[in-house]
Amino acid sequence: MGTEQSRTNSWYIDLEGRTAAHNYHPLPVVVEHAEGVHVTDVEGRVFLDALAGYSALNFGHRHPALVAAAHAQLDKVTLTSRAFHTDQLGPFCRDLAELVGKDMILPMNTGAEAVETAIKMVRKWGYTVKGVAPGKARIVVMDDNFHGRTTTIVSFSNDPVAHDDYGPYTPGFDRVPFGDLDALREVLTDDHVAVLLEPIQGESGVGIPPDGYLAGVRALCTERNVLMVADEIQSGLGRTGTTLACHYEGVEADVYTLGKALGGGIVPVSAVAADHNVMGVFTPGSHGSTFGGNPLAAAVGHAVVKLLQTGEFQDRAKQLGERLRDRLEALVGHGVVAVRVRGLWAGIDIDPSLMTGREACAGLAERGVLAKDTHGSTIRLAPPLVITEEEIDFLVDQLTDVLSSDRG
Ligand code: PLP
Repeated sequence: MGTEQSRTNSWYIDLEGRTAAHNYHPLPVVVEHAEGVHVTDVEGRVFLDALAGYSALNFGHRHPALVAAAHAQLDKVTLTSRAFHTDQLGPFCRDLAELVGKDMILPMNTGAEAVETAIKMVRKWGYTVKGVAPGKARIVVMDDNFHGRTTTIVSFSNDPVAHDDYGPYTPGFDRVPFGDLDALREVLTDDHVAVLLEPIQGESGVGIPPDGYLAGVRALCTERNVLMVADEIQSGLGRTGTTLACHYEGVEADVYTLGKALGGGIVPVSAVAADHNVMGVFTPGSHGSTFGGNPLAAAVGHAVVKLLQTGEFQDRAKQLGERLRDRLEALVGHGVVAVRVRGLWAGIDIDPSLMTGREACAGLAERGVLAKDTHGSTIRLAPPLVITEEEIDFLVDQLTDVLSSDRG
């Protein structure tokens, strides 16, 4: 045990380094408290959180309506298992389904579980509805995908760090380049049951496909009787300026996976959304989760849905995203090689001869901004949607300063 005085950032970092698995490489900031767009570390330093839990905190830290919903439910009932009904699940599913334009919701907990659920569902749909021969169902996925960390999901990842040494791998997946409709058209066979993709690839650095690509995938899926599964776990729920990133092209997928922001940054809540003809393949006992759809999760998720029903957050993301784009695009040629922005979501490729993404993020942290690098020289920004224009300016000013300084 340390004394009060010894509890500096480094005290906690050392303890974590000795006792918590090293499956992450965090920046040296020890968060103790957070509100809205700001977090405070144990030494009292305040940071603007420009990562927002990889979009799990779309509404900011401890949004009052979400905290109130959680508190109220904590005082009533928190867990029943799905062996019984609760007064929370139905209203949550009804309103989430309506928000995303589907008939039904299957609630789970983490994003990876939602993706696993979708994979099981489309395979079963393939066998029982489409008529694919037993054991033959195939799913098309994209190069540079990120859908989570389970053994099946890492089986079709082409990121060696996520994938290597975890075999034997789950078969039945074909990977094609993201954004390449011809490659997708060529790979599809009668045994394919689904195309699984992120409408914008978050983990790979906010990869935005060419205009018309999502609509093209939609058309191909319809033509070939293949389900389009959009993983909106990071891109969805207001982040890109629309409720779902697919809506940018007016595209409706057959299946959505949702997560992250659905739990309001309070509890893990994920979900699969689909219409009766697809979701109907699940029968009692054929899939489930002890915690999925628990009343606390449903109450918080429902409060999240209510925030999104007004359209206010989507509008903020769209409008403020323009500001973010204008400011970031001005950095191209000044330490930045390229930027990709949709709503309040940006991937920034730093000139690798200047510094690494990690060095840039360390420099940002020193200047009071938290962001995260990905794949070497890219920084991902996903600030809470409650950020103000002045805070966006502060954020980009700090980045400008980092890029003009010597190695962050
Ligand atoms: N799908 C996408 C698109 C993601 O970005 C993530 C997480 O980053 C996941 C799935 C996995 O979510 P979780 O970490 O909650 O399992």
